[in-house]
Amino acid sequence: MNHLRAKDWAALKPPLLRFLDACHADFAAETGGNVADYIPELGKADPDHFGISLATLDGHVYEVGDSRIPFTIQSMSKPFVFALALDTLGAARVENAIGVEPSGDPFNSIRLNADNHPFNPMVNAGAITCSGLIREAKGDGAFEYIRSALGRFAGRELGVDEAVFTSESTTGDRNRAIGYLLRTNSVLKEDVSKVLEVYFRQCAILVTARDIAVMAATLANRGKNPVTGEQVMTPYAISRTLSVMTSSGMYDYAGEWIYRVGIPAKSGVGGGILAALPARLGLGSYSPKLDSHGNSVRGIGVCEALSAHYDLHMLNRSDDARNSIIADYNIGKSPSRRSRRPHERHILATHHQAVRIIELVGPLTFSNVDYISRQLAAKPRPQFVIFDLRRVAAMTRAGVRLLAEEFQELAAFNVTVILSGVRRSSADWKLIKEQAKGLTNLRDFYLLDTAIEWAEDQVVYRHGGAIDFHETTGLSEQPLLAGLSASEIEEIAALGAMRSYRSGERIVAAGDPSTSLFFLVSGVVHVSLPDGVRLATLTAGTAFGEMALLETYRTADVLADMSATALEIPLDAFERYREKHPRVGERIMRNLAQLLAERLIVANTKVDLLTAP
Ligand code: GLN
Repeated sequence: MNHLRAKDWAALKPPLLRFLDACHADFAAETGGNVADYIPELGKADPDHFGISLATLDGHVYEVGDSRIPFTIQSMSKPFVFALALDTLGAARVENAIGVEPSGDPFNSIRLNADNHPFNPMVNAGAITCSGLIREAKGDGAFEYIRSALGRFAGRELGVDEAVFTSESTTGDRNRAIGYLLRTNSVLKEDVSKVLEVYFRQCAILVTARDIAVMAATLANRGKNPVTGEQVMTPYAISRTLSVMTSSGMYDYAGEWIYRVGIPAKSGVGGGILAALPARLGLGSYSPKLDSHGNSVRGIGVCEALSAHYDLHMLNRSDDARNSIIADYNIGKSPSRRSRRPHERHILATHHQAVRIIELVGPLTFSNVDYISRQLAAKPRPQFVIFDLRRVAAMTRAGVRLLAEEFQELAAFNVTVILSGVRRSSADWKLIKEQAKGLTNLRDFYLLDTAIEWAEDQVVYRHGGAIDFHETTGLSEQPLLAGLSASEIEEIAALGAMRSYRSGERIVAAGDPSTSLFFLVSGVVHVSLPDGVRLATLTAGTAFGEMALLETYRTADVLADMSATALEIPLDAFERYREKHPRVGERIMRNLAQLLAERLIVANTKVDLLTAP
């Protein structure tokens, strides 16, 4: 076999990047449209410039062509300043000042709605009102406040094109007209010229296609910048911003756009287009030639092609909630890894339906939790339900709300709910606790096996069993020595020495040579892999380190869970005894084979549970 070299890996190109490359090549041939020149400085843009960038929600940024050429953000600032206004002044104040209905008018229309308010924040009248609101809150610091917020969306500090600002400021009488109209209707409370200075400056903020992609991805990610990890705005402000982008982002082309492309978007006369597909991606494109609506011709082409090729229309979705349960079983099928004494085993076998374990995978959404609740209802009610969330990638608010309601339902029937696989320090845990406030039947253990063990213990208690940390008097209970006579057992015991261990002490270390085996006489120990996975919890009456009979090196750690005593028998003495007593030796090896077979059956059941269709 040839080994792949680093160079061969590098040759592997993500198909999405290949697609963007192809788009760039295709649409570069498109030369229709005109560079905006009503702001004279914009007329100087190079019509050939063409950059595309796509940011994913795991923070990867694809770039093709002139993705690092700076240009002015123009109207693409509108959604961000609207979100900023919502978070800064509160939704009520902003929503009272600006409507959310599409106007069907061009961006610069000098028209207000029937209440003499702007139609929406995506047309100039609404955007100028947003800038005015920020000025109300921040005074002369308004522009810097906006610039720094947009920088958080982009993940870097953004500059300003002074020439474009001056150019628009000296020619922007139409926007001034809108400003005075707003002021005479008391929508704008601030000095019109000062508000317009903020607005013109925010439009002259310099961005690249890459910046726009990251900004869009932040919108698509509930306001959390996927590259920096910063929560830039509240999810409320973001979802309302995406709403107005959906209905009005492309001005008098908005209806057509959302019908055909189905991705919330915003364009700017500088030649940029920003598209944010919630939960998926952010796209930024730059090409200065515009169509009659003021939207970049190539940018529109790229968005249409992306949406069509990958079928990304946001209203063309489906989901199958049935994939959310990866395993659903009870302790009869897969008990905890704790060794149990005969009376405990008996109780647990009789009441194996008392503990139900549901292992979940993927996101916990409204549909997934609803499906899970119906699976629970379909079988006899257990006394304990363990939800294992270790493979749950994310939780939606709706999912957690429904889950908390399910806990409530279970509580009403005295069913104890146990969560595993979620850390108390995690955001998910916080969300669950918030929703499940006041619930007393909720327990949690990070490790699933610990959760199962705890539930089993409760079942044993409830049915009159005791889990005493009993001491064995000799080795007669040891399964490894089953079938041996009392005197043979005594001879074997005489080969070893009694040892005591403190709670937490490591008795056996993985990787060490195997030189002895142990019979646990009192206390509890656990066997775990070096990475922390707990393989078994052992109580008095069981052996450990017995793999020494087969393996030269220890394969796992053994640690004392509480103070414990064990009889340690050196391997060489044991081997000498076996040689002298071949019949006893054979019996012990058969017992060992039996124990290993039992472990294999348990392990196979686990594998089966997780891989069954
Ligand atoms: N600054 C520009 C204006 O107000 C922004 C317009 C746009 O990008 N559509 O005219």
